[in-house]
Amino acid sequence: MNLPQTATGANLQQGLEAPAVLQPVAASLFADRAARFERLADGHASGDWLAFLARLSRIQHELLQSHPAVPLPSEAERIRAREHGMPVLPANGWRRDRVWRQHLAALADGLLPHAPDVLRPVLAGLPAIGEAELERLADGVLRTEYDPAHSARLPFIAAALQVYWAWMAAQPALAGLARLDVPGVCPCCGSLPVASVIQAGQYAGARYLHCSLCSTEWNLVRANCSSCGETDKVSYRVLEAEGGTTRDTVRAEVCDDCHSYLKQVLRDKDASADPVADDLATLALDILVDEAGYLRSGPNPLFIPGGVTESRADG
Ligand SMILES: [Zn+2]
Ligand SMILES: [Zn+2]
Repeated sequence: MNLPQTATGANLQQGLEAPAVLQPVAASLFADRAARFERLADGHASGDWLAFLARLSRIQHELLQSHPAVPLPSEAERIRAREHGMPVLPANGWRRDRVWRQHLAALADGLLPHAPDVLRPVLAGLPAIGEAELERLADGVLRTEYDPAHSARLPFIAAALQVYWAWMAAQPALAGLARLDVPGVCPCCGSLPVASVIQAGQYAGARYLHCSLCSTEWNLVRANCSSCGETDKVSYRVLEAEGGTTRDTVRAEVCDDCHSYLKQVLRDKDASADPVADDLATLALDILVDEAGYLRSGPNPLFIPGGVTESRADG
């Protein structure tokens, strides 16, 4: 097995040996996210929605703990991916196991009793969607081409796919991935990052991009635009504090070269901060940056604009 490629360049600056790629930790990934959603929901203007997402994350956690063994890339496929600098479990093109549809059914089942009225018919209708249609919707989610006619369903499809991809990404066979030549896509699945994370603890200060699908994290030198690689034109936008606890743990990194932005979650300020949960608790920051003319460079598929949850996501 190859040793992880170290983050040269970042090391001098950060004084540590941060691995190039971190696999998701199956035991804690969704449990920590659920706990974070719960904390963020408390006193938040969109608290009901965040609490609902805490339940969703909790079910993702349970599904991940009892996940059946499903096919992984063969050794030959892993070697080929490495040689060609390609993701080993490509979101776009991997032969999906049907298990993700079982995850979707379990999510619908588990969430229905707790769903807000507006989402009940959406969840109740998920099991009736045919396999071919579900696979078509999944293809759209994985390519971030969201079918507006189904936007209310897509976050649940994304949540089910996240469980399946995170299970595969966390397996020992997937250890030791190298970063790709394109810094802005996940070395495991080729998806875009949901946010970047400034780490605390073992790799304190290192910046990692967090995959919006498989939750793999990959190192990128701080102050490099994750979209175009430019370093000179990166700056930060923050929300004015309003007594909230999350405001200083999230900032938007904007690039005046490619006019994109991605949020940065500062675990060195709050070790429990989570790229997915903290992102959805700070949608007001997206509005602010969007109005300033920047386009978000990576998705959070638990929030699909145009879905029935949009009106409640005003925090
Ligand atoms: Zn990924
Ligand atoms: Zn840029």
